[in-house]
Amino acid sequence: NQIKKYFPITGGILGRKVGEVKAVDRVSFAVYKGETLGLVGESGCGKSTIGRLLLRLQEATDGEIRFEDKDIQALSPKLLKKIRKEMQLVFQDPYASLNPRHKVEKILEEPLIVHGIKDKKERRERIMNMLETVGLDRYHAERYPHQFSGGQRQRIGIARALMTNPKLIIADEPVSALDVSIQSQVLNLLKDLQAEFDLTYIFIAHDLGVVRHISDRVGVMYLGRMVELTDSERLYEEPLHPYTKSLLSSVPVPDPDDQSDSEVLTGEIPSASNPPKGCAFHTRCKECMDVCKTSRPTFQEISPGHHVACHLYGDA
Ligand code: SF4
Ligand code: MG
Repeated sequence: NQIKKYFPITGGILGRKVGEVKAVDRVSFAVYKGETLGLVGESGCGKSTIGRLLLRLQEATDGEIRFEDKDIQALSPKLLKKIRKEMQLVFQDPYASLNPRHKVEKILEEPLIVHGIKDKKERRERIMNMLETVGLDRYHAERYPHQFSGGQRQRIGIARALMTNPKLIIADEPVSALDVSIQSQVLNLLKDLQAEFDLTYIFIAHDLGVVRHISDRVGVMYLGRMVELTDSERLYEEPLHPYTKSLLSSVPVPDPDDQSDSEVLTGEIPSASNPPKGCAFHTRCKECMDVCKTSRPTFQEISPGHHVACHLYGDA
């Protein structure tokens, strides 16, 4: 049940396939009801692709994706539409995803229409309630996206995602574009909404600092592969994978003089179209051994709930 998504690279006048980008390469994980699973990694590691595969906005090359008891990839268009109601995306840049010519009311009404709420009064009532739920006011319904601050726009993006009463929210870097002071407000809002509506989150971010306080578990990705997955606490206290360790040491620490176990990441991130053989991280890993250059480490559970893909651990 490992998910793959390879993007073809074509070249030449015949447009023949000359290579593949393994955006997601044999990744397998579960998300539990009511939890927040953080997905972290540098840009191009495949974390956003995973979000789109789950919603079937892109088709996986291989593997199985299940939502509750349903195989997402086997659904008819009709069932897919129904299930999309239950899974919604929150984007990094709400401005880019909010139609500038539509008033907020229309923006929030659209998902209700798509999902068959026919009664105009009912739609309006739900829109007004949702505006208040996300910390905006009823009169904001009459305004256009450009009349809001970045943080308010993200509240509109969140409101839109919640209009259809989803169960799963995939938040793709929802606070990366916001000022630090606004970030925590939006993170707190997401936490409150999770409790209120019994939501499950997949929270995508490029640094571990942001996901720390919101995630129950965190998966670390590198070049399309998941390299470590465990409880949030354990990941920060006992990271095992050398890549996780280097990501953690680049998170600002309260005492900048304490560089005792700093392992700052060096070297360029290799291209996903030509990932290193063996362990994809071996070109940047300080603990690289001979075996790492030829053999890909399997992603295995080395203690209960702690998965890691590295030849330093387990019975590789
Ligand atoms: Fe480093 Fe080898 Fe582990 Fe890869 S498998 S992270 S190269 S020690
Ligand atoms: Mg992305």
